Amino acid sequence: MRNFAYVRGTSIESAAAAHSQTDGSAYLAGGTTLLDLMKLDVMRPKAVVDIHKLPLARIEVLDDGRVSVGAMVTNTELARHEVIRTNYPVLSEALLSGATTQLRNKATTGGNVMQRVRCGYFRDGISPCNKREPGSGCAAIDGHNRNVHAVLGTSTQCIAAHPSDMCVAMTAIGATARVTGPRGSREIAFSDFHLLPGDTPWKEHALEKDEIVTHIVLDRPMQASRSSYLKLRDRASYQFALASSAVILSVNGGRINDVRIALGGVATKPWRATEAEAVLRGQPPSAALFAAAAQRAFQAARPYSQNGFKVPLGQQAIVRNLSNLTA
Ligand code: SF4
Repeated sequence: MRNFAYVRGTSIESAAAAHSQTDGSAYLAGGTTLLDLMKLDVMRPKAVVDIHKLPLARIEVLDDGRVSVGAMVTNTELARHEVIRTNYPVLSEALLSGATTQLRNKATTGGNVMQRVRCGYFRDGISPCNKREPGSGCAAIDGHNRNVHAVLGTSTQCIAAHPSDMCVAMTAIGATARVTGPRGSREIAFSDFHLLPGDTPWKEHALEKDEIVTHIVLDRPMQASRSSYLKLRDRASYQFALASSAVILSVNGGRINDVRIALGGVATKPWRATEAEAVLRGQPPSAALFAAAAQRAFQAARPYSQNGFKVPLGQQAIVRNLSNLTA
């Protein structure tokens, strides 16, 4: 058994300060990632800062029409909220496709954003893994890399896919992460929040050690749009995506007026397919156009020994989603 200090965060500022004071401290919100990884002896925090009672559990429509989601809003509350179901159905669908009811009841928005990868070598605590033990290598590159490993955004140091469904929908919607620390509050574009593994796979996000995520602010919804989250996986529930797509689309006068596409299960961070979007904008919807966009989305893909199927599967996740939305 490993001893650790338990600190109850009584304010946002004091929680961030407590987190920064001890090397190797960790925030505890819903606990659906942290407690698993502590039991597996993968994460060994010297201090756990409990933030689940901080006053960050509100969903508010801001004056400018954006929607602020507190970091302690649970995945269930977010998925079921009327404003989300009405204005951001793609987010609601993505949330409800993830995990199980029990886990969604505990998992928080902030925790979902901060969750760790599902790579088995990371979680076994003993295999070479640059993310867990910098410089030790990556057992997945020549090992089991079928399910939870990426073909986009990988590096020679790490190929683990980002596991979140919620973050894929937020990437398509467009969002901002609000964080607070001793220098005050700042905003980070959601697309810049998660980092590519590059040469530093242990650095997963843009948050500083003395900062805490307080809110995710969703951009205004796309006007006159339809949207859908399509998740392809080995079984129908309680399973991570092999490939997923969040698509938001508006069609006007027989042409695609605007479109946003984000991908999950295939990339090392929630992946915005901007090049595919550029293929689609201004064009009349057609099967050939959708196939061309999907092809473009995976132009830079790098498949590994067992996950090459994710390229056509990811392309199909785009084509099918676009086809359904324009049928
Ligand atoms: Fe570790 Fe990343 Fe390699 Fe998995 S893919 S073993 S998380 S370095």
